Amino acid sequence: MPKTKSKAVRLAGSHVITTCATVAAILLFVVLGSEVVPAALRGARLPDSASTLKVAFLLNIAIILFGWRRSKDLREALEDYEAAERLAQRNANTDPTTGLANRRELMRSLEDALAAPAGGIFLVLDLDHFKRVNDLHGHLAGDKVLLRVAEASKAAVPSDACCARTGGDEFAMLLPSSNEEAAEAVARQILEELSAPVLIEGAQIQVTASIGFSRLADCKNEEVVLRHSDVALYAAKRAGRNGFAWFDEELERELTDRLKLEEDIRNGIKAGEFVPFFQPLVDLNSREIIGFEALARWRSPDRGLVEAEAFIETAERNGLIGPLTLNVLEQALKEARAWPPHLKLAVNVSPVQFRDAMLAEHILKLLATTGFPASRLEIEITEGSLLEDRDQVLTIIRSLKNVGVSISLDDFGTGYASLAQVNRLPLDRIKIDKSFITTIVKSEQTAAIVSTIAGLGHNLDVPITAEGVESEQIRNALADFGCAEAQGWLFGRPISAEAVRNFLAMGSNDAAKTADNSPTPNSRRSSTSRRP
Ligand code: C2E
Ligand code: MG
Ligand code: MG
Repeated sequence: MPKTKSKAVRLAGSHVITTCATVAAILLFVVLGSEVVPAALRGARLPDSASTLKVAFLLNIAIILFGWRRSKDLREALEDYEAAERLAQRNANTDPTTGLANRRELMRSLEDALAAPAGGIFLVLDLDHFKRVNDLHGHLAGDKVLLRVAEASKAAVPSDACCARTGGDEFAMLLPSSNEEAAEAVARQILEELSAPVLIEGAQIQVTASIGFSRLADCKNEEVVLRHSDVALYAAKRAGRNGFAWFDEELERELTDRLKLEEDIRNGIKAGEFVPFFQPLVDLNSREIIGFEALARWRSPDRGLVEAEAFIETAERNGLIGPLTLNVLEQALKEARAWPPHLKLAVNVSPVQFRDAMLAEHILKLLATTGFPASRLEIEITEGSLLEDRDQVLTIIRSLKNVGVSISLDDFGTGYASLAQVNRLPLDRIKIDKSFITTIVKSEQTAAIVSTIAGLGHNLDVPITAEGVESEQIRNALADFGCAEAQGWLFGRPISAEAVRNFLAMGSNDAAKTADNSPTPNSRRSSTSRRP
């Protein structure tokens, strides 16, 4: 930009000089003309000394013509430069996909707004699961969705607001007024507009968004405004998305804790603090152990022994679930290699991990390096995997099945999978979620659901495992429904690798004996729910 500017200045300078020279030539023309033209008109012969005057007069006419032409060219060149400069300026401040202001322009407006005493409200808008739109319908459709959000946003904000796209699927708006009701009305209008499905690139696409608000009056600088609105956005996402939330300090503390947890998980993986615990899988009728499910535990120096439930979701959100699971899997495979050969090992794979096209390769490599037989490994996937890129998920599953790994569908009943979707997956087993199992003896309705799933498994020839079996009463009910396998505190809690080794060294196959070795992790479980 400064280069363009200095060129424009140079052009303007040349234009001024050329114009001055032309004006001077015109003045000279008038003076010379007053001598030469009347004599010429009178037909009088000019003295010889005056012929120089004649030449000068003709030259003067040439200079005027040249000067006028040059001045015109310079003026046009200057106008072109100014237009180019204006365009470059606009491009530098505009998001090319949506035509809205970009982050740089927004930050400038925010700086001005913070300097003025008038206050105002800042909001950030983030599309929910936008990646899915791109993955399922392509980037062209994705861009059209962004354009639609831009239009909905522009239509909702007052004309003096700054409306910007600040990144991939993130938008931000600076509302000059501090009126919170008006700001919420803006949010509602945008969310309502977006909620209507539209036909884009031949597909019905519906997107939702989450919005976070911060009050400029509470913020001393731009950094605080952005942090406040991010905290509020996080709250809106956590409250179920497709909504808005305002910043509050309690939320900020929560977010700080979450960031600390993320940081600790990241460091914990590097320090080898994540280990597999093993919970027995038993034959429901004979109660014999047929294998173990590896469940990640975190031996944290600050937090104690932490159960998977407390960190898996965070690890999924920040991209750490892949390294964490593969690390735990490697340890589990090394451990299970020494078990009697009839015992299988089940491990969990998160839906997020299916975004890694190399997932099957990573698992196969671990099987090869640890020497654990693929036929004894069972990978537990959840219905959430079906929401990821379907083709990629199926390719990964097939690669694993080709070498003899079996696949089970974990936590069945908690997700969104239709029976048709489940039927299309090459499943070897379905595990009914523990939320159903723990209540079957209390609720006839739940018992009916479990009985139906068991019947479904029977018809599809897919064996059913019940997880969360906590009492004999539940076990008996499940046996009546025809469930083949079970897992739960009744048969044994997750125990350390060492405890499994000790148990197996006893040569017993009675899962109940593993319970004696159960450590009590930092748990929310009550002692009344321990094995009777
Ligand atoms: P899941 O695979 O469904 O594992 C069963 C969960 O239920 C485990 O919780 C287990 O400790 C608990 N449980 C077992 N028996 C009973 C019972 O009788 N009653 C009750 N109320 N609960 C029981 P945990 O270990 O906290 O794991 C939670 C989830 O975290 C697992 O659910 C699994 O989806 C995930 N997870 C665990 N380890 C890993 C891992 O290494 N990688 C990945 N991606 N996910 C993991
Ligand atoms: Mg599982
Ligand atoms: Mg489960």
